[in-house]
Amino acid sequence: MISQYRGIAPKGQLELLKILGDKLAGRTILNVNSTRAGGGVAELLHRIMPMLAALGVDGRWEVIEGDDRFFDITKKMHNALQGNEEHFTEEMWDHHAWINGRNAENLDLEADFVFIHDPQPVPLIRYKKDGHWIWRCHIDMSAPQRDVAARVMDYARRYEAAVFSVAKFALQMPIPEFIVLPSIDPLSDKNRELTAAEIEETARKFDIPPDRPMVLQVSRFDRFKDPVGVIKAYRMVKKYNDCVLVLAGSPARDDPEGEAVLAEVQNFADGDPDIRILLLPPFSDKEINALQRLATVILQKSVREGFGLTVSEAMWKGKPVIGGAAGGIPHQIVHGVNGFLVYSVEGAAFRTRQYLNNDEMLKRMGGVAREHVRNNFLITRQVGDYLSICLGVENAGSPVIDIF
Ligand code: UDP
Repeated sequence: MISQYRGIAPKGQLELLKILGDKLAGRTILNVNSTRAGGGVAELLHRIMPMLAALGVDGRWEVIEGDDRFFDITKKMHNALQGNEEHFTEEMWDHHAWINGRNAENLDLEADFVFIHDPQPVPLIRYKKDGHWIWRCHIDMSAPQRDVAARVMDYARRYEAAVFSVAKFALQMPIPEFIVLPSIDPLSDKNRELTAAEIEETARKFDIPPDRPMVLQVSRFDRFKDPVGVIKAYRMVKKYNDCVLVLAGSPARDDPEGEAVLAEVQNFADGDPDIRILLLPPFSDKEINALQRLATVILQKSVREGFGLTVSEAMWKGKPVIGGAAGGIPHQIVHGVNGFLVYSVEGAAFRTRQYLNNDEMLKRMGGVAREHVRNNFLITRQVGDYLSICLGVENAGSPVIDIF
């Protein structure tokens, strides 16, 4: 299975993976998060599991369950940790802890290494038995609501190490902290090469005209992704350039606000026949892949963001993305080289027109974008990082971490 990445991922990454896999062969690595579908975390876990298996490592993935109230609370936590003002009561914290306690009874938490993803399941540390427990935080904690961050930290500091996606997302903690940039799988249905017939099928299915430029944003319907801002930018562009706009998203179990935001977006689109708002079922990977390949211009106009995996997905398809300068987006887009960073609706409109009017620039920057992803954001690099961390925490305290 690893050999399938030959000629796609850099050779050195594959050699390192093999060495790390041999070191950890037969060991168990458990991942726990809060949704099996929707969002970047689930997306990656689906792909990491078979890769661990191919390396001889026993990868397991458990998902915590909760009621609507739990996911309302954790969504508020997520928003507060990314800087929104939210009100929390003692009863909400109790419910968060209680649901985690119930999950601990039902889940098998035995493993050599346990990665707990994000704040939803962070209280599970109270039920740790053996193994090395690592808190994997995917969100931007750089300017959190303080009282909420303090509550999460009460749990998080009990882990052996914490992993953040980008250095500037990290909070200062009394435990070792690691940085692991996320990644995409070039062989998944989301990113693999598609045949012309597969792409055409998607165009037909969503009524995308073959002869007009298409502007695309793929995102959950979340205000931080600024879908309304995308429509505003499209309207500015539309005064001068013909195009259709596609906003594609799907619901996530851990995002109860999605429906309200979708309604807002539909309202704002106001029946414009050139705006397609696509509510895709979960696991519409091939369709998203095809939409990204069909697009002339791809936006990710987030005002706040985790890492923003959709950016690397688009860049891998040779599209230079116009991205909001938020979260991990500036780590993927090198402004003016493989894409553009924007700070406003006007900026997004300006760069969209620049691409629509300059085919040569679009192609050139798209080629650079793909190479940037190849060298930095493929899953082979990320799995190597995780395995290195496992060896690192296991050997903490010994003078030399001897992985070779
Ligand atoms: N995604 C999807 N369907 C959608 C919208 C998004 O499969 O309708 C995927 C998208 O392709 C990407 C992930 O969900 O792989 C979103 O990850 P990102 O880091 O961009 O944002 P998040 O949703 O985690 O905030």
